[in-house]
Amino acid sequence: MEQELLNLQNEARGNLNQLTEAGQLEEFRIRYLGRKGLFSTIMRELSAASPEERPRLGQLANSVRAEIEQLFDEKKTTLDNSSSRAQGANAIDLSLPGRYPERGRLHPVTQIMTEVCSIFEALGFSVAEGPDVEHDHYNFEALNIPAHHPARDMHDTFYVSESILLRTHTSPMQARIMESKQPPLRVIAPGKVYRCDSDITHTPMFHQVEGFLVDTKVSFADLKGILTVFTQKMFGEELALRFRPSFFPFTEPSAEVDIACVICGGKGCRVCKQTGWLEILGAGMIDPEVFKMVGYDPEIYSGFAFGLGIERIAMLKYGINDIRLYYENDLRFLSQF
Ligand SMILES: [Zn+2]
Repeated sequence: MEQELLNLQNEARGNLNQLTEAGQLEEFRIRYLGRKGLFSTIMRELSAASPEERPRLGQLANSVRAEIEQLFDEKKTTLDNSSSRAQGANAIDLSLPGRYPERGRLHPVTQIMTEVCSIFEALGFSVAEGPDVEHDHYNFEALNIPAHHPARDMHDTFYVSESILLRTHTSPMQARIMESKQPPLRVIAPGKVYRCDSDITHTPMFHQVEGFLVDTKVSFADLKGILTVFTQKMFGEELALRFRPSFFPFTEPSAEVDIACVICGGKGCRVCKQTGWLEILGAGMIDPEVFKMVGYDPEIYSGFAFGLGIERIAMLKYGINDIRLYYENDLRFLSQF
């Protein structure tokens, strides 16, 4: 009986040492310490021992059982701790995709501006930027629009003072660059312009790209060629394009360039004012008067200029029917581009 007890003690110690997972503890407890476990069985067998031996064996059985219970508690604590550490490690699920920071993006107007610039850069144009707050001289006089010229009424100008204004177009860059450089010139000037105007196709601030080319023997055919290449690259070769005679004080002859309305497909809608066509830019051969003002000899040099509205291009490209959406800062709108 005593030997049986000592064997059971050794077996229990050994098994307890081999336990590596908290889940095995219960199995051990039932086998050794449970109500029908091996220790309880031995205790019951004590009754078969002789009355002289019974107290000593009872004491031994109690102390062995107490020792195994203590070892069991220690093991349980150790395994519980390491299993909760393991659960902590499992809380990071390595199979989940990473968490990306929200990515910002360029405003659609900026995207189109960049695209327009890169098309013209590929055609050999360089990019120049000028001031938003401009002298009356560069915005009007140098472009053959003297004071009291009716063309000034077309511009709905914001004046800062009598001779300082917010530029109404990017064309002042023509005069600024021609004043300081000699031909040949191929330049585009992107930037903000301002007019006192607001409806579904106009905002008080909008963006233009001015472009001009000055060299010897430049013809209207060159202008037509460059603008055809541009609109085809921008909108695809299928889109209908037309040149319509027009008037600008600083170009002669002048033309408005229209493309078929992409909102209604040419049927007529409120964006194209029921015409089926959308004006995307104004262009023409640079007026000899403009050359004279910057000191170029119009007998030697000729050139063309064009100006296009970026918001207008972006509306056509993306099929947007209200220009004001660009400036409402609604991320649901802006994040689509
Ligand atoms: Zn339309």
